[in-house]
Amino acid sequence: MYTAIGYAAKSATTPLAPMSFERRSPRADDVAIEIMYCGVCHSDIHQARNEWGIAVYPLMPGHEIVGKVTAVGANVTAHKIGDLVGVGCMVDSCRTCDACHADLEQYCLEGPTMTYATPDRVDGSNTMGGYSDSIVVSEHFVVKIPAKLDLASAAPILCAGITTYSPLKHYGVKPGDKVGILGMGGLGHMGIKFAKAMGAEVTLFTRSASKAEEGMRQGADHVIVSTNAEQMRDAAGYFDFLLDTIPVQHDLNPYLDVLRFDGVHILVGLIEPVDPPVNAAKLVLGRKVLAGSLIGGIAETQEVLDFCAEHGITCDIEMLDIREINEAYTRMIAGDVKYRFVIDMATLKA
Ligand code: NDP
Ligand code: ZN
Repeated sequence: MYTAIGYAAKSATTPLAPMSFERRSPRADDVAIEIMYCGVCHSDIHQARNEWGIAVYPLMPGHEIVGKVTAVGANVTAHKIGDLVGVGCMVDSCRTCDACHADLEQYCLEGPTMTYATPDRVDGSNTMGGYSDSIVVSEHFVVKIPAKLDLASAAPILCAGITTYSPLKHYGVKPGDKVGILGMGGLGHMGIKFAKAMGAEVTLFTRSASKAEEGMRQGADHVIVSTNAEQMRDAAGYFDFLLDTIPVQHDLNPYLDVLRFDGVHILVGLIEPVDPPVNAAKLVLGRKVLAGSLIGGIAETQEVLDFCAEHGITCDIEMLDIREINEAYTRMIAGDVKYRFVIDMATLKA
């Protein structure tokens, strides 16, 4: 064991504050990483504030981690000291079930071990995330950062990137498809870039008319202001896919109306019961699909990093001093970040 430092919440109602804690020494298959950058995901806020009802305190968020390998266990073959590597939302899974065998560790039948607020499979300790100076992770859950990528702006690919890339790929988005991206925050702005890179015609749905120009700059071909009933009506029956990153309850029915028959509405932002309820007629009468998707497997996380390097895709980031993390949460909730905060971990020791 060794002493690590980071920022954690002690309860759902307390701000994040500095904390020392024990990290394990590397086991035989572990990689120890000095964290350089960590993105700030809206899930971090949901969890720190127990909005999903599954938080374990102290809760140290952070699952968009980039850093340098400082030590490896005796059996590690995939990474070596000095490598630039990433860790996303998972740090372990059962590795033997059908999902794990299919490289879909996020759907592990026993449940994956998440990067924070989950019991470690070996010693039962509460996992602590990337708002920290270091982390120790089994090599299978560590990916390589391609040399072409800027390290800080690569960090959000580990969650915002894979979460938007994976469903677009799974549902086979292809050139000419009409894809709508709902909400332009960390996930949404990456969704625009991936859908565009896959050849789709991309439309941003945003609450904020002021984001229209920005949306086009990110690569959207069109922008619909979702609060404008006329614009929504004009889009009836147009879209093949909607990727919904909105992090709060919202009415799905107007969105199901803009899907064409066989269209798919993919939820990634919401994991609560839908309220108000969906009118099933909107699904039945057009053979429409309401779907969900959780991050992506480890092999696909490596794939999306390589895809970003190949296609020159980067995340638009705002560098953050970790001492300002609580203000950053307030700004994210207000939609005031373009489009992902990334913590510069050097500020932890400033
Ligand atoms: P952000 O806060 O960066 O962006 C969310 C965007 O949604 C905002 O920019 C805004 O876009 C829109 N939005 C925010 N509040 C509202 C509101 N009250 N009503 C309508 N639209 C709103 O969040 P992230 O992109 O980091 O995360 C999005 C969601 O995805 C979160 O719930 C997060 O937990 C979840 N998530 C899910 C994952 C999965 O595997 N399924 C993985 C990672 C995150 P605009 O201003 O353009 O309308
Ligand atoms: Zn995330």
